[in-house]
Amino acid sequence: MGSGFGLKCSKCGKEYAAYTGIGFLFPQVYKATITDVKNGKYGEEWKSLSMGKELVAVDAERYLYVCKNCGHWAVEPGLSLYAPNDVEKLKKKKYGEKTVEQWGEVPYVMSMDLEEDYHLLKSWIHKCEKCGDEMHRATHDEEYNLHCPDCGGAPVEGYHVLHKWD
Ligand SMILES: [Zn+2]
Ligand SMILES: [Zn+2]
Repeated sequence: MGSGFGLKCSKCGKEYAAYTGIGFLFPQVYKATITDVKNGKYGEEWKSLSMGKELVAVDAERYLYVCKNCGHWAVEPGLSLYAPNDVEKLKKKKYGEKTVEQWGEVPYVMSMDLEEDYHLLKSWIHKCEKCGDEMHRATHDEEYNLHCPDCGGAPVEGYHVLHKWD
């Protein structure tokens, strides 16, 4: 379910990679992310939005973001917040042996769950750490053109190694 790719810098020769999506540890990643949100790691607004309604979910999958202004890129969790369309129905949904109600929370939420059972509460704005501009999700073309994180050099053309895992 996760994927990544490797690139090579044409200037300094460094190989670098970007891994997006989710790995098999996703349930742990999800739990850590929603706990951070509720503890205020992502600010007071996110904390109160996540506590303000029942069973608010966070997009904990990792995506590639690029800054249009300076070309800086980063792989970050989506972090947008979502609310269930039907809280009662969700409480009856089974995760393993138990329902959400019995767990007392939703153990983990994947992006396909978000599409099916939730609606967007608020989008997280991804800020570029270099110049402060807003970053956007990378397009396919941009994925092939990520510059070297060390020296800023362009990637070697045609050098694009895909990795995938379950
Ligand atoms: Zn380089
Ligand atoms: Zn920037």
